[in-house]
Amino acid sequence: MRVGFGYDVHRLVEGRALFLCGVKIPYKKGLLGHSDADVALHALIDALLGAAALGDIGQHFPDTDERFRNISSLKLLEETLAKLRECGWRIINVDLTIVAQKPKLAPFIPQMKQQLAKTLSLAEEAVNIKAKTTEGLGFTGREEGIAAYAVALIDHAP
Ligand code: MG
Repeated sequence: MRVGFGYDVHRLVEGRALFLCGVKIPYKKGLLGHSDADVALHALIDALLGAAALGDIGQHFPDTDERFRNISSLKLLEETLAKLRECGWRIINVDLTIVAQKPKLAPFIPQMKQQLAKTLSLAEEAVNIKAKTTEGLGFTGREEGIAAYAVALIDHAP
């Protein structure tokens, strides 16, 4: 068994759609980035790559590559899963924490869980997503950005 950890931050700006765990969240701002900037999926991708000792998201999906401009990060997650499977790994469970002062994410967590379970071919019991604020402190508290943390446990497929 192997464990991996991932972390990511994106800036919140006007004029962008907000995607978290592949779910479009209605909000006046969205995350800035080369892809759809889904910070939660980027943290998860790094956790999975980390568990498999396959480096990081920037090595596999460079932001200088036009193929990844505005791409759904669900596609990047699917490609990451394929890379792990090629190496004989399967996912046991994943756990994510999204840090955002606003918007309130609790109503969207069931949909996010469903989306992740579907994309990763996991039971929903193997997917956990938590949303936190920082009680107004720091860049997330000032609503300048959203941060995400993820851990993933993997083992060799039988
Ligand atoms: Mg990112």
